Parts: sequence; structure tokens; C-alpha cells
Amino acid sequence: MKSKIVEIFKSIQGEGLYQGQKQVFVRFYGCNLKCAFCDTKSVFYAKESLSDIMSKINCFEDFHSVSLTGGEPLLQIKFLKKLAETLKMDRRKVYLETNGVLYQNLRDIIEYIDIISMDFKLPTSTNDRVLWDEHMKFLEIALKKEVFVKAVVGKNTSEADLMECIGIIKKVKPDLFFVLQPQNPYESLLENKLKTFKRICLNHKINVKILIQMHKKLGIK
Ligand code: SF4
Repeated sequence: MKSKIVEIFKSIQGEGLYQGQKQVFVRFYGCNLKCAFCDTKSVFYAKESLSDIMSKINCFEDFHSVSLTGGEPLLQIKFLKKLAETLKMDRRKVYLETNGVLYQNLRDIIEYIDIISMDFKLPTSTNDRVLWDEHMKFLEIALKKEVFVKAVVGKNTSEADLMECIGIIKKVKPDLFFVLQPQNPYESLLENKLKTFKRICLNHKINVKILIQMHKKLGIK
């Protein structure tokens, strides 16, 4: 069995609550969504076997966890399950970065995942379809493990979409960490919007943080 892999490399995690941790990234090809801000649309892939991937991961030393990322890694669920299972047998920490939609696939591999970084896909950020039901079902399964959620905020992101996120968090786990991530770390115009969104979250007693994509600021992969 082989999987479509874009790249495998070691770097620091640039987003979310584990920002700054050293990780080995396994970037899977392909996605089930079409976010307007996606930066992984025009990438190439190679077909790699489980042993190819494991030997590449094992060439690296001194890292916190293996990040299964994409694209959307859950799209290649059969292969992902084998990889996550093998990583756990090797006593690796498994970190899943996901758009939080394919909840049935998550159910298949949840036992092999340690940490989940789940995106809320806000229609006014992505220009894509509404996914609140899928996000809710996904989170209900993800809560079996450590999980936090994040949302990209752009100039068109609406307060109504933010309120949908807050509603879901309150229903599933009121103390869940929620990261607001500016779409463009250099866009100062977003500052006021982010501060307003943070204040709204705090008024609803949500554990919120504003975090920029550190790797973009540092100019690293
Ligand atoms: S979910 Fe991620 S990989 Fe998929 S289209 Fe959106 S930004 Fe791109």
C-alpha cells in the first residue's frame, strides 16, 4: 500500500498551542475542501510506502511529535491508520492537523492519535460551504484525546461565524482552547477585528488566544 505524500521534513510547529515545538511533518496530498486562502493547492506528490515514510521519520532526532498534516490527512484513511498505528508502536507522539470534517474517518484512527489540532472552517473566511454539523460531530469524537480548535480570521470573516464557533465550543467543551489566527500575519488592518473577536470570546468565557503563524514570520518552512 502506498500513499500520496508531498513532503517529509523536520521543523518547528508554527501554529496553534504547540507553536515552537520541534516536529517531523508528514504532509499528505489532497483535500476535501477548497478554502480561498489555501496555500497547498499547486503541490506535487510522490507515492510512498509505509516503510519509506518510517525510514525518513527515523532519520530525524530530537523532536516532540510527528505531525500528520496536509491537505487533509484523513482523506487517505487506510494508509493513515497503518502509519499512525506504526508510529504508536514506535512510541512516537502523533499529532493530527485536520480541517475537522471527516468525522467517520477520525473514529477509525482516534485510538492512535495523541493530539488533534482542528480547524473551524468559517464560510466567510474560506468562501466554501457551511460545515458546522460536521465540526460538531468531529469534535465529539476528538474529545476522547487532547484537542484544540483554531480559526483563520480574514478581512471578510463575520461575527456571525465567530458566534457559531462559540456555540459549538459551549456545547461540546466550554473550556476548549480556541486559537484565532490572522489569515495574513502582516495585515495590521486585521488587528481591530481580532481584538473585537477576542473580546467577544472572553465575554462568553471562551479560552481564546490570538496566535500568528510563527513559521511565516520567521521565514521558515
Ligand atoms: S482545508 Fe487546508 S488544505 Fe484543505 S483547502 Fe482548506 S486550507 Fe487548503
